[in-house]
Amino acid sequence: MKVLINNELQDRQEVKVDIEDRGYQFGDGVYEVIRVYEGVPYTLDEHLARFYRSSKEIGITPHLSLEELKQKLILLIKENGLNDGGIYVQMSRGVAPRKHQYEVNLTPELVAYPVPSKRPDKEQKEGVAAITAEDLRWLRCDIKSLNLLYNIMIKQKAHESGAFEGILVRDGNITEGTSSNIFIIKDRTIYTHPAGNLILNGITRTKLLELFKSKGWAYKEQAFSKETLLQADEVFMSSTTAEVVPITSIDGKPVGNGSAGSFTVEIREAFQELIKNATAA
Ligand code: PLP
Repeated sequence: MKVLINNELQDRQEVKVDIEDRGYQFGDGVYEVIRVYEGVPYTLDEHLARFYRSSKEIGITPHLSLEELKQKLILLIKENGLNDGGIYVQMSRGVAPRKHQYEVNLTPELVAYPVPSKRPDKEQKEGVAAITAEDLRWLRCDIKSLNLLYNIMIKQKAHESGAFEGILVRDGNITEGTSSNIFIIKDRTIYTHPAGNLILNGITRTKLLELFKSKGWAYKEQAFSKETLLQADEVFMSSTTAEVVPITSIDGKPVGNGSAGSFTVEIREAFQELIKNATAA
């Protein structure tokens, strides 16, 4: 496997991570996961825009321009013969003797490589279980930072209880999933938490909102309570890797009639049509 290290493609075996890389020691960096369909990266520009925004928010200045990185990632996909999968990209603040504060002129360390990713067909068709948990993360969830400790803790809890996702609740309202955005449908209106510092504004979320608009489907970016979630007609999650997955039970109780909702299926199919059109050669 070829890995992009800063400006250069290297063999996986040759890659070395410095023990004093701040990404490794502090989680001091940002990342993205980009889905590749038929060899074509989907919404690459949107992911890179978010990557550069995240890095700016934490004061990391990339050594490559967005356009240069884009070309490197396209080369990485080509050199690895990646057809159906994902690309993981991360940038840490750089390497320095371990101390919390940093010199502003550090050179960032960029790493990108292919990761396996497959459409979760079974989950998309049958729906998945979710649990709820208090959202105890920091208040800059809009930054796609390497610090994922709380997300990991709740995802693991969900996994160990046989669920696929953990839905986070802050001050009684649903914010998002541990690695997804959450939508509910009530009386044919779709609701999702507004963008802001309490959620990561998902690229899939943004594409879905555009889709709802173009289809004339009623939607509101509006916070809703856990009670409203539990009484929704349909619930689904969205992310780059999961796309649109129905949530059919929450904390052991069925959502609606306990099977994938018909509107969710329509949304998923329309979203997959978007992907197909965007990645057609
Ligand atoms: N929210 C969180 C916390 C995430 O980690 C992710 C994806 O990893 C998402 C939302 C969904 O974002 P996207 O659609 O850009 O993958």
